[in-house]
Amino acid sequence: MHILDPQQIAQLDLNDPLGRFGREFAKPNRENGEPCVYLCGNSLGLMPLGVPAALKVETDSWAQRAVEGHFEGVHPWMDYHQRFSGPLARLVGAEECEVVAGNTLTVNLHLLMAGFYQPDNRSNDHGRNIILMEAGAFPSDQYAMDSQIRHHGLDPKRCLVEVALPDDRDEDPTAPVLKQIALLGERLSVVMLGAVHYYTGSFFDIPSVVEAAHRVGALVGLDLAHAAGNVPLELHAWGVDFACWCSYKYLNSGPGGPAGLFVHRKHHARQDLGRLEGWWGHEAATRFEMPRDFVPASGAQAWQLSNAQVMGMAPHAVALELHDRAGMEALRNKSLALTEMLEAVLLDFLEKHPELKGRILTPSNPRRRGCQLSLFLEHRGRDLFDHLHHHGILADWRNPGTIRMAPVPLYNQFADVLAVQKALGSFGSKEHIEAPLH
Ligand SMILES: *Cc1c(COP(=O)(O)O)cnc(C)c1O
Repeated sequence: MHILDPQQIAQLDLNDPLGRFGREFAKPNRENGEPCVYLCGNSLGLMPLGVPAALKVETDSWAQRAVEGHFEGVHPWMDYHQRFSGPLARLVGAEECEVVAGNTLTVNLHLLMAGFYQPDNRSNDHGRNIILMEAGAFPSDQYAMDSQIRHHGLDPKRCLVEVALPDDRDEDPTAPVLKQIALLGERLSVVMLGAVHYYTGSFFDIPSVVEAAHRVGALVGLDLAHAAGNVPLELHAWGVDFACWCSYKYLNSGPGGPAGLFVHRKHHARQDLGRLEGWWGHEAATRFEMPRDFVPASGAQAWQLSNAQVMGMAPHAVALELHDRAGMEALRNKSLALTEMLEAVLLDFLEKHPELKGRILTPSNPRRRGCQLSLFLEHRGRDLFDHLHHHGILADWRNPGTIRMAPVPLYNQFADVLAVQKALGSFGSKEHIEAPLH
């Protein structure tokens, strides 16, 4: 590829309809005082500048009103969670009654599985008791699935099937999943997928997964940790049964911020779900009569357990407002352009450095990925990562040799890709010692 033209890049940034959103986030600085090129939004999104003021509203309310803050103030805490129905519904493509904010991601994963994973047989080898997930899933999801299976007295070695993704990035990551669903047939209980794979950045074709799973009578649950705010989602229209996500990656709501969950409307009236319940899931009108028996709130709100995590939710509201204003369509358009440009830069670099034995793990089809690109180097991966870091480019390192980079359309610019190209251009000079990884 041709070297990026700085003037053209400047023009792209100037014409970028989302350009002004970049100025609404705090960026970490390098030692020389210049802002970093931040490519870790897939790990922890940047802080919206409005966060401290939003937190102060709530700490002031706490200080000045104490318990009355539940009923008074700018956003009374009693119904605080309701601020999120609209923005979250738009974000994941759901009806407002299908989403709720709260808890943390792994907790929601367990809550949803407790409700929807109902193996119908105590034998490992018969009945509908298999969970299917992608191989190399995020460890928390693996531990959660293993322990869900053991919780029912079953053996994860027999009841958890992990589908390997294709090695070739030109192949469709969804194909092996569809094949495995058909093979498992009536043994399959739940397909639980990370919609966008945290390591490779592969974005599964969710509608076809849903269709295949429903055809064999199985349910589909999604972990949207790397999908929410990154790729367009239509959970309701696609017929996804349930889903959960965290808010601190592409949703920029701060470390450990409140997660979210989705339960499709078709399951709302079911009495047979093994839902685990708490007082905040009780219908709001009679919650404070403290009745002995649980009456579910309508929809996903019945899955709440506890009163709102206000101090985590205040930043969440600020961040979601930015997403809402930017809109997923504009974000996706810019994301496709940014990532394609970064991909070209990385491919060019790999071509110039065959000795590194590198390749991109992320699918080549833009429709089958979000903004993240994962670059795997057999040799000197860590050297390259350190070199980028030294040049003010913050990426993410995964052993044994993967550098994940996520140009986030909400706050990254085209100039950031230019900076990556520049830094890559100075890699390989003699200062680096040839040190194979293994
Ligand atoms: C980030 C991430 C998690 C983290 O779980 P928490 O409960 O928020 O700590 C879990 N699963 C996936 C797929 C992730 O990407």
